[in-house]
Amino acid sequence: MTNPILIDNAAICDAGAETRAGSVLVEGTSITAVAFADDDRRDLRARAAEIVDATGHWLMPGMVDAHAHSYGALLRGTEGSLPLELWALHTTLYGRAMDGPALRAAVLLGAAERMRGGITGLIDHSPMVGFAGISIAAHEASGLRVGYAPFLHDVSDYDLLDLKLPAALAPLTPPPPPVDEDAYAANFASLVATARGGSGRVQVQLGPNAPQRCSPSVWKLWRALRDRHDVAVHTHLLETRAQASLNHLWPGGMVAAMAREGMLEGRLTCAHGVWLTDAEREVLAAHDVTVSHNPASNLMLGSGVMPLPACRACGLRVALGTDSANTGGRHDLWGVMRLAMMLPRRDGGDPAGWPTGLEMFSLATEAGAASLGLHGRVGRIAAGQLADLALVRRQAAGTLAFDGGIDAMVRHAGPEAVDSVMVDGVWTLRSGRILAFDEAAVLTDAADQIARLRARMATQLPVLLAAMPDVTRRFLAASRDGFRRREGIGEASPGG
Ligand SMILES: [Zn+2]
Repeated sequence: MTNPILIDNAAICDAGAETRAGSVLVEGTSITAVAFADDDRRDLRARAAEIVDATGHWLMPGMVDAHAHSYGALLRGTEGSLPLELWALHTTLYGRAMDGPALRAAVLLGAAERMRGGITGLIDHSPMVGFAGISIAAHEASGLRVGYAPFLHDVSDYDLLDLKLPAALAPLTPPPPPVDEDAYAANFASLVATARGGSGRVQVQLGPNAPQRCSPSVWKLWRALRDRHDVAVHTHLLETRAQASLNHLWPGGMVAAMAREGMLEGRLTCAHGVWLTDAEREVLAAHDVTVSHNPASNLMLGSGVMPLPACRACGLRVALGTDSANTGGRHDLWGVMRLAMMLPRRDGGDPAGWPTGLEMFSLATEAGAASLGLHGRVGRIAAGQLADLALVRRQAAGTLAFDGGIDAMVRHAGPEAVDSVMVDGVWTLRSGRILAFDEAAVLTDAADQIARLRARMATQLPVLLAAMPDVTRRFLAASRDGFRRREGIGEASPGG
């Protein structure tokens, strides 16, 4: 592929401006010029080694999937109808049965789906820390830009909730082992070095599973590794009712505890935040934290609806995520943008306050970049930005519009309208064909890995399924009394 590349005659979609016809020059990994006037565009044509006539297309910054778990791509169809705390028993059982080849297949399958949907970057919040090297290599091979955040945790949800699991499940659901801090730190340093020695597209982040799933000493490790390696941090936060019911156990609530301990800063992205209070949102906004909004996953798990207008009201930066394929469904940020746009309209109110397509576009692009630690470097179409771009068909059955601006694109486009995708100045999808890797081989391998996984689950899954009615009964009983039996975390909360 030749470079400099001029993408000519596209309808340029940039969060800061109206859509208009223009030309974008990509040199190396970056956008070096954007021109709208005829004379300027002529000059750019003279500088280009390759000119792509993008007539009839929108050119947009690639979208960022700001919260996801790559392993879930092999688990489509296993979702069931369960709240997070019960669904988690299933997904961790499947996850533990996965090996390196399965994880590699999942990463590439998810990459193919995302690329076809105009997504150029994602966060992979990964429980499979033992296969981190394989994950990083697979993300490198995917052609996408990735923040790879391996899990860090040592506290079980079921201990927190004081939920006794049936004895039959004990061998299948061991609590997380204590974190060997020196070993974790050494492994993390080596992962950071591996990623930094690569293409630069894949960066390692810290991935504390959730603050309540980390003991006080693990909070210290989180802070120390963040500062030692200058990395972004990705964590779940206040996702479910059950988690909200425990929030009072940290003096002032979890967000206040995080603020006291220096965990809140601009490199942090918190996924979900469904149950944050107004005051907590304000604290996060004041610390320049990003919240990743995952409306499809939250609705599918019955977790609730994050109040997007309340985030906007306090200036809290919000990105969009798809979460795991076996919770949120498709890794399709078009669908997520529409859901995020529609949910605040469900109760009516003043339509002047309803989120617009243009705002959702900014969440999926500019704000998403912050979750990658690349705020200001990715997510806009402007000179100096990294060249992560998508060409979207504007003259297709589903997209031809009376007014073909960004709002129409957000409301009507979908993965089927995505024609081409560029990451870091390289075409990874061109005219509907993936160039970054052999998609047919990935599909064949993923099918094979699913068959192997199914075989490995043959004895374990029936044990879990048999126990589920009992587990569900215990969970519902505990949630009816608000998980109030659990006391004393406040005293054990991270201190100094
Ligand atoms: Zn998640």
